[in-house]
Amino acid sequence: MLASRARLIAGVGAALAIVAIGVAVFALQSARTSPVGDVALVAPEAVVVLDSERGLVAAGARLDAAALAHGVRQARVHLQAAAATADAVAQTATQPSADQPSDGPDADAVDAAGAQLTASVAGLDTAVARLEGLVAVAVSGGAAIVRDATAAVSGAALITAGMEAESARAALEAAHRGWLAALDAQAAEQARLAEEARASAADPAPGADGRPTDSAGDILWVTSVPTAEGDGSNGHLPMSVMCHIPWGTDQLGYAQYLRCDAADALTGLNDAFRAAFGESIAMDLTYRSYADQVAMKAAFGALAARPGTSSHGLGTALDVQEWPDVYGFGTERYAWLVENGPAHGWHAPARVREDGPHPEYWHFEYAP
Ligand SMILES: [Zn+2]
Repeated sequence: MLASRARLIAGVGAALAIVAIGVAVFALQSARTSPVGDVALVAPEAVVVLDSERGLVAAGARLDAAALAHGVRQARVHLQAAAATADAVAQTATQPSADQPSDGPDADAVDAAGAQLTASVAGLDTAVARLEGLVAVAVSGGAAIVRDATAAVSGAALITAGMEAESARAALEAAHRGWLAALDAQAAEQARLAEEARASAADPAPGADGRPTDSAGDILWVTSVPTAEGDGSNGHLPMSVMCHIPWGTDQLGYAQYLRCDAADALTGLNDAFRAAFGESIAMDLTYRSYADQVAMKAAFGALAARPGTSSHGLGTALDVQEWPDVYGFGTERYAWLVENGPAHGWHAPARVREDGPHPEYWHFEYAP
């Protein structure tokens, strides 16, 4: 009797349990497909189960949405950095430059660095395109994505793609530096070779006093080479205070010298110039010895400064090439040099400005 009653209780208990589970399962399914209003009609225990289930889903969705938003923010930072780097590279790399001879010393190194640069640009383009695609999907479909765990775009995917874009950007930056360094090395080597050639040049034309001449025998004025024993006065600067400019020569290939601080500052100005125009400043004359100034005065009279007074004799003056269409008053390069030179200590003195008493668009002086 007791045993059969116990069986009955157990049987009813089991039946109730099965019904309860059924209700709970139904409630759970309803929760996924029905509005909350319908769900409230289900048994209270089922609502407890349902709420906790929905709460977990909602909390998960909030986390996914936050991760997605974070991923999009990070991606935008990476995309901005990538654009800035690509821009900087494009400014120096797209135009054929006077600094980029196709042959000559170190041409292979320059070619290899150029190929590396090109490959890095392509690498960044690919990474950026992928990241931009993910951002576009995330921004347009973000709300749907966080409810669908199988969707391709997640915060984690954006972060991963963003890191890939950042490493492609860093690779491009390194390749760009390498390319510029190869160009600088090539220019320095050219200057060295030119100096060697000058040192071993054949006998100068009679009357030119050791100076180079053109085919008609006229003197070609070039930058003076400082001597070891100069006393430091105007036109007698010793080599110890002078620096060879590593990135350029005059149009004849002769090396250029300035007082070291002026040379360093000019290199800084030239870096900015090259970023703006894709080429180095075309130098004509820099340092001028006393003897050369005496010879110039004899040749040009009032047009040349009195020996001992020229800023060229102090190693603090630069003449760009006398190319009126390129560097003349009103040209883009002249305006740029006048505007940007002072940040590097280089300026066009008032007396040689277009409205000054001795207009010389080519002449700039260092006075920080
Ligand atoms: Zn000058």
